Amino acid sequence: VFLSFEGIDGSGKSTQARRLAAHLRDQGREVVLTREPGGSPGAEEIRRLVLEGDAERWSAETELLLFTAARRDHLERLIQPALDRGAVVICDRFADSTRVYQGVARADLLGLVNTLHAQVIGVDPDRTFLIDMDPEAALTRALGRQAGEDRFESFGVGLQEKLRAGFLALAERAPERFRVIDGNRSEDAVAADVIAALP
Ligand code: C5P
Repeated sequence: VFLSFEGIDGSGKSTQARRLAAHLRDQGREVVLTREPGGSPGAEEIRRLVLEGDAERWSAETELLLFTAARRDHLERLIQPALDRGAVVICDRFADSTRVYQGVARADLLGLVNTLHAQVIGVDPDRTFLIDMDPEAALTRALGRQAGEDRFESFGVGLQEKLRAGFLALAERAPERFRVIDGNRSEDAVAADVIAALP
């Protein structure tokens, strides 16, 4: 089973991914908890290339190709083998982040994003938990935590709003895969909803 968590920066999706992994492990399942960008040694190297340096380091197109290369390596080396042996894979961000960040919010490349996905990735999760959160509150959290950490952090609340709308639009188009979960609540309440929404 392939599960992913999506949401804007500061939405709490990483915390929720960890909690779900612990819950399923307690039930005796083999769980592979991973993240993007990154998740395999090669993809983590690409993550550093993408996130380090100044904002102008890569063009939007080059950046999309790097994200896609990282995803392909992650899929080949970690995700697909785990799914093949029956493990639960929980991924903190997957292709939906690229659809929203590179496709509509930070760049306008959705056509290319979709072409690349169809040609070199070809899989989507069985279930995607979209942790939906008020952009201003999420931004406060994200900035408090990762100040100075990556080249994308000059994001303002306008970008956060665009990202949120982009994720919600994707969820509307694929309602059987997505579950939208209100992240403006306690960690425990969100975690309970995630478990209730497992496929
Ligand atoms: O989720 P995480 O904090 O690890 O993401 C690292 C950074 O990469 C964030 O600033 C996020 O906004 C950005 N990102 C992106 N495009 C993606 C995935 C993540 O710009 N497809």
